[in-house]
Amino acid sequence: MAELIDGKAISKQIKDELKEQVAALKQQGKEIGMAVIQVGNDPASSVYVGNKKKACEYIGIRSESYELPEETTQEELLTLIDKLNQDDKIHGILVQLPVPKHIDEDTIIKAISPKKDVDGFHPQSVGALTIGQPGFVSCTPAGIIQLLKRSGVEIEGKECVVIGRSNIVGKPMALLLLRENGTVTITHSRTKNLKEVCKRADILVVAIGRPKMIDASYVKEGAVVIDVGIHRNENNKLCGDVDFDSVEPVASKITPVPGGVGPMTIAMLMHNCVEAATMFGE
Ligand code: NDP
Repeated sequence: MAELIDGKAISKQIKDELKEQVAALKQQGKEIGMAVIQVGNDPASSVYVGNKKKACEYIGIRSESYELPEETTQEELLTLIDKLNQDDKIHGILVQLPVPKHIDEDTIIKAISPKKDVDGFHPQSVGALTIGQPGFVSCTPAGIIQLLKRSGVEIEGKECVVIGRSNIVGKPMALLLLRENGTVTITHSRTKNLKEVCKRADILVVAIGRPKMIDASYVKEGAVVIDVGIHRNENNKLCGDVDFDSVEPVASKITPVPGGVGPMTIAMLMHNCVEAATMFGE
């Protein structure tokens, strides 16, 4: 039976540490501000934005909310970002993705100052991670490193296999595991012998976007399995990319869905915002 890695508890621990740090900064007269921008009213985005605002409130970060209509032009959005880039009271800028189709996502990501890029999506942030310099790291993979470390999983020297090579999860995940001295393999839809490659893993991170695809036949006895996927199953219940019931008896540690990786993403966003204020703020 695998030990559950409790993302809810670990994210609460991180948020409580940040809350203390933010309170101490307030005593020195420093208030942290984050701008949260949503264009249009996609219901899933509204839920994410709402959760981010709630987390800010819990930690003591002042959040400024910009709910812009669907028909907002790219120019209007860029003007707002430019204004927030210059605003000393704002330390982090978050544009909830996806943006409507008439707006170019890459242009928006590049418009955010790298000093306020709390999502870690700016090419400068990604480049810094690649060459081992300080910078903001994409929140989901950063959260997974915290889950591993705070659950006592050693990464150094371990065989780490990441399934998925997206810019927001797979690639930064692989770079972070490498930074922690893991021996890292990235796999994707063109990988041959996926099962054999996955079976080598001491640490298997699954970010495919396919419900329950990974069963016990992909997992080495005693491996640590991290499930990034989020889906609704036929009964409208949440499930991941890992077939939990099949893998749990084989793994040594495993993240559940929900309550594993999910809660860590917001905790790390808050962490990045505090870091933005302490590294770059006035
Ligand atoms: P993407 O769709 O951007 O990437 C999926 C990756 O999986 C691609 O690299 C793709 O390969 C690979 N892949 C797809 N099918 C296969 C297959 N059959 N065999 C091997 N590899 C395959 O997804 P994301 O990285 O954005 O997200 C992955 C999952 O994580 C989703 O379920 C998403 O909802 C969830 N997620 C959860 C978050 C959280 O906070 N918990 C945050 C972000 C995402 P190729 O490149 O060749 O197409």
